[in-house]
Amino acid sequence: MRLILLGPPGAGKGTQAKFLTERHGFAQLSTGDMLRAAVAARSPIGLQVKEIMDRGDLVSDDVVVRIVSERVDQPDCAKGFILDGFPRTVAQAEALDQMLERKGLKLDAVIEIAVDEGILLDRIIKRAEETEGGPRADDNADALAKRLSVYREQTQPLIDYYHGTGLLRSVDGMQSMGEVRSSVEMTLKEVA
Ligand code: ADP
Repeated sequence: MRLILLGPPGAGKGTQAKFLTERHGFAQLSTGDMLRAAVAARSPIGLQVKEIMDRGDLVSDDVVVRIVSERVDQPDCAKGFILDGFPRTVAQAEALDQMLERKGLKLDAVIEIAVDEGILLDRIIKRAEETEGGPRADDNADALAKRLSVYREQTQPLIDYYHGTGLLRSVDGMQSMGEVRSSVEMTLKEVA
């Protein structure tokens, strides 16, 4: 099964991706995690993206497309994978379509985790307080405001994009974590 989880920062994409990984053995491909690892390792890509990420902007499409393309070829993706945080722009979605076509792979579903924006700030403040080793550099008020506006302008259009392809499914992300998990599982049964 090859899935995309779509939703604003704080919607719970990472949490649900982890559940799916544990339950089904799909690989979790979080571009945010991969980029943070590059920053921590001070690799050339990490040095290039650190400032951009810290202020809540998107890193360039080229960089993330390259990272995802290499990652999808790893053996642990053979059983399936969940894209979490990618694509984030229509250009990335088009690049993903071309990439998968070249690799002879198809997406099974795009699951939107729909939430009211009003709750996101609280959720992210809570996450910042609970993160081991200190909060993420971009879990502060300024960067968060930027991430939300970037989401609205650049990522939200993907909902129409995937609606148009017939792949879009939506679950109510305002439910409890466990209820969202059940809704996601039901969606998977429908598309299987
Ligand atoms: P969240 O879901 O909380 O916004 P992520 O961990 O997915 O956080 O992403 C953190 C940051 O990493 C983004 O604000 C952006 O700078 C960068 N990033 C992650 N994925 C992408 C992507 N697909 N395209 C461009 N930048 C990305």
